[in-house]
Amino acid sequence: MIDLRSDTVTLPSDEMRVAARDADVGDDVYGDDPTVNELEARAAEVVGMEDALYVPSGTMGNQIAARVHADPGQEALVDAKAHVYKWEVGGFAQLSGLQVRAFDGGDRAVPTPKQVRDHAREESLHVAGTGVLCLENTHNARGGVAIPKADIDAAAEAAHELDIPVHLDGARVFNACVALDEDPAAMTEHVDSVMFCLSKGLGAPVGSILAGSEAFIEQATRVRKQFGGGMRQAGIIAAPGLVALDNIDRLADDHENARVLADGLDAIEGLSVPTPDTNIVVVDSEGAGLTAQEFVGLCDDVGVLGGTFGEYHTRFTTNLNVSGADVEEAVELVAEAVESN
Ligand SMILES: *Cc1c(COP(=O)(O)O)cnc(C)c1O
Repeated sequence: MIDLRSDTVTLPSDEMRVAARDADVGDDVYGDDPTVNELEARAAEVVGMEDALYVPSGTMGNQIAARVHADPGQEALVDAKAHVYKWEVGGFAQLSGLQVRAFDGGDRAVPTPKQVRDHAREESLHVAGTGVLCLENTHNARGGVAIPKADIDAAAEAAHELDIPVHLDGARVFNACVALDEDPAAMTEHVDSVMFCLSKGLGAPVGSILAGSEAFIEQATRVRKQFGGGMRQAGIIAAPGLVALDNIDRLADDHENARVLADGLDAIEGLSVPTPDTNIVVVDSEGAGLTAQEFVGLCDDVGVLGGTFGEYHTRFTTNLNVSGADVEEAVELVAEAVESN
């Protein structure tokens, strides 16, 4: 089985398991867990923020950020294909009382400064007002697009001119940084908060980081408790997260494997596969007369797992547990399956 459903399916390495077993722990709700504290300090440094908070999931990190930045009744400005909008179960509305206003980020996956200005709304007797701008890098639903720092900066600056705080959903921000050869601290220089996942390409079993100013993290810690994310001897799960932070540079391997996979699949008659920026490969199978569901079914039968990503689009995600040999084998298996269909 070659599991390309997501970069979340990775299993913890032996080093991570040993780190978990041997971790120094304490009650993190009291701030007493030295391993969590170490992880938060290192994570803040990596993204160049004053402080950071360990959270159980990326979703919780994004939801806490929205709650801290915006007031109930305000609008959250998001891309129409943003994870926070499409796949977080309406959390902005239900957990923070926010109304979403969506812009179309298009292929560049980030709003232009003009789009920010056109969609921002000033509070008045009749108007809710914009409480937060959310950006996403890499952009998952737009095919793992790596957005350059200049575009993130321009959008953030346009928002700041209107006094709108900016949150970056950076679930895969290190994929963007590795692909663009950008320092993570530079990438997040002009946003007010960033969430990144330890449990995706970096390979940790559990957890994400929310980072921002000291004042922001102080409020975020309260909201995390309110959302049920205050954890006790969490060093057990934070320790593999520390190991995961050493895996940033190796994301380049996932990107190379994704390119090989995309090129190989694109050469199969009927499949159309653009060259990916990062580790997300999107296959269009309409030319082969296959819906995504049919194509995923065919691949599944030969032991290559992917996920539907639209009516004719399928997503394959390279990850830590998938080797160069695996992707070459995956191409051969999929080629046979499509040709014999
Ligand atoms: C995975 C993901 C999240 C959420 O992370 P979870 O840990 O699955 O809750 C948020 N944003 C993006 C872009 C993601 O890909």
